[in-house]
Amino acid sequence: MQTDKNWGLLGHEWAVDLLRGHLSNGRTRHAYLITGPQGIGRRTLALRMTQGLNCPQPAAPGTPCQTCHTCQRIERMQHPDLVIVKAEEAGGTLKVNQVRELQRGLSLAPYEAPYKIALLLRFEQANPNAANALLKTLEEPPPQVILFVTAQDTETLLPTVVSRCEVIRLRPLPIDEVSQGMQTTWGIPDDEANLLAHLSNGRPGYAYWLHQNPEAQEQRVTRLNDHHRLLSSNRVERFNYAETLAKDRTEFLQVLQTWLSLWRDVMLKASGAQAPVINLDCENEIDRLAKTLNLDTARQMISSLELTKTRLGYYTNARLTAEVLLLNLPFIP
Ligand SMILES: [Zn+2]
Repeated sequence: MQTDKNWGLLGHEWAVDLLRGHLSNGRTRHAYLITGPQGIGRRTLALRMTQGLNCPQPAAPGTPCQTCHTCQRIERMQHPDLVIVKAEEAGGTLKVNQVRELQRGLSLAPYEAPYKIALLLRFEQANPNAANALLKTLEEPPPQVILFVTAQDTETLLPTVVSRCEVIRLRPLPIDEVSQGMQTTWGIPDDEANLLAHLSNGRPGYAYWLHQNPEAQEQRVTRLNDHHRLLSSNRVERFNYAETLAKDRTEFLQVLQTWLSLWRDVMLKASGAQAPVINLDCENEIDRLAKTLNLDTARQMISSLELTKTRLGYYTNARLTAEVLLLNLPFIP
């Protein structure tokens, strides 16, 4: 594994510089809040900083070796002085008893490393009791304890939590930078790197996850092919598809997400915006839809897809919800 200046991360150099500065000046904060969209690199940054804090043989001041037993266990999130707290499933809730259990653990001295680290992931999923319970630790942190909290953004958190953390806001990288980085750092062929960089919308972690999960890429292509076919399908075919869709809510949500990204691309194209499309491999389809339909139709489709997502979240009748969505899909013979 490389021990480069940027801790092996793609992008976010300013954040690495900031944290490295804290390490080498001995001015580490008690709590860091790292925000940004999923797949941007929040958890990776926190883990590399954890290595920086606990690596017994740093390659340079503030630069973890990333190869020793300590660094490797931290990378795998299997170090006794690293505690991970998160909601049990995506879309679940982080509960107060999880925070209390963490606090009991943090009151003990580290087992072997200089610092005990708590990593609280996707903290916007914490319920108010859990968030309030964490305040106590943020106000009076035990010695040798450092907290990392990750979240989508600061707006979804209690202001009292945000104000007690050093906030690091990670933003999407330029598409070209992700594409280049994937080629040079990870040796991914340029065609694939370019497509994944677009699909990730500048989130290197998500791009890399896609690279490692070809089945996720295939599922995406299937969902887009279904969409293409349904545009020219009659009511009976659409209702059949709705029936299949309603049987699996998780897949239903994934379909909505994929179709939403396509319609956002159509809206961008129809509005004449210069922003890069996400679905780079569907540019012909996006052009066709943008030319055949107008901006209003694209907007309506986006609202319809978002409304469907909300309805699914409230456990409404999934089949009826799917049927309404498919009837709203424009008909293009
Ligand atoms: Zn190390």
